[in-house]
Amino acid sequence: MYYKQYGDTDMKVSAIGMGCMRYNDEDVKAGNLEKCAEVALYAHEKGINYFDTAPFYCDDKSEEITGIALSQLPRDSYYVSSKMNMGTVGGKATKEAYFERLHKTLSRLKVDYLDFYHLWCLLDLNSYERQRDALYGFFEEAKSQGLIRNIVFSSHMQGNELEKVVESDLFKGMLIGYNALNYRFRQTGIEAAYNKGMGVVVMNPLGGGLIPNNPETFRYLAEGTDLTVPQAALNFVASHKEITITLAGCTTKQHVDDACKAVENLVEKPASVIYNEYENKGVALNNLCTGCSYCKSCPVDIDIPKYMDAYNEKILGNNLMDRLKWHWGIPSSKAAECIACGQCESLCTQHLPIIERLKEVAAAK
Ligand code: SF4
Ligand code: SF4
Repeated sequence: MYYKQYGDTDMKVSAIGMGCMRYNDEDVKAGNLEKCAEVALYAHEKGINYFDTAPFYCDDKSEEITGIALSQLPRDSYYVSSKMNMGTVGGKATKEAYFERLHKTLSRLKVDYLDFYHLWCLLDLNSYERQRDALYGFFEEAKSQGLIRNIVFSSHMQGNELEKVVESDLFKGMLIGYNALNYRFRQTGIEAAYNKGMGVVVMNPLGGGLIPNNPETFRYLAEGTDLTVPQAALNFVASHKEITITLAGCTTKQHVDDACKAVENLVEKPASVIYNEYENKGVALNNLCTGCSYCKSCPVDIDIPKYMDAYNEKILGNNLMDRLKWHWGIPSSKAAECIACGQCESLCTQHLPIIERLKEVAAAK
């Protein structure tokens, strides 16, 4: 296993972390939790020492399953993270409710403290400010009581927004979605976090299944290697010098082996070098939005990169509406407000026909 330093701390973490949201569905439903835990134990045996879980994952059983595995291991041989936001306390905005939630997580994980506790799922700067104002004081108190070691956040924000959160100096690390398809969205964010001495953990390195489900489109990632396309996609993320841990959601021991193989011969490079290498290949990304956000100043406030990201799904043969609804949480109807001023098209680094694509998005059902 390849290990990296977590930000400016003395923690050595595995380049691959176990994303504990993919335990076998049938086993979870059948109550075979020990069997699920065997995968986490196997991951630890293979050198993975970072386990990322949360309430509600796997029918709300992920923390319990992960706890079954971790309770069999020396406490100083792994790092465990979980998450909390207002949604996890059913809207009860009291300190008692927050501590109750945290103690439930600790008890399910069978640990006295969490190494990382995430202010969870910050969608944009407004949601960040709301959650920070409501919960950050509780996080600090929990830390002073020794219940959590590091305060971190998880987010779906774009690079420039991430930079603002990074600048706040409130967090030791961050968890973001990042992959070969959307890397432009978050480029400035990972560079800012790295320069601040923060750890950067990546979820969704396979683009929500988009990359393994479209192996021909993404074959260029594996060119010149002995890796499969999904392994190459993990390697793409893990090879960023700015990224500390790449989470792999593992259902089986084979998934663990596949993920470990992806970083066997890891060569770390700065993000800027990686972007040039991949974009010079010029392959599949030609007609895809790369999320660079150069088009962002729309006079009618259409969040163009998000709509174009959803249109990427259509190009790749997937469901545009699912992406809009479940990933971004924005309505297709907003796309119809485009007044065709052309400003975005003149700025688009990919020279995409944004106006035409927005019409298609608006008409999508
Ligand atoms: S063309 Fe449409 S989407 Fe593009 S900037 Fe103008 S109004 Fe916004
Ligand atoms: S400028 Fe083009 S490629 Fe960049 S985010 Fe906007 S639509 Fe996508």
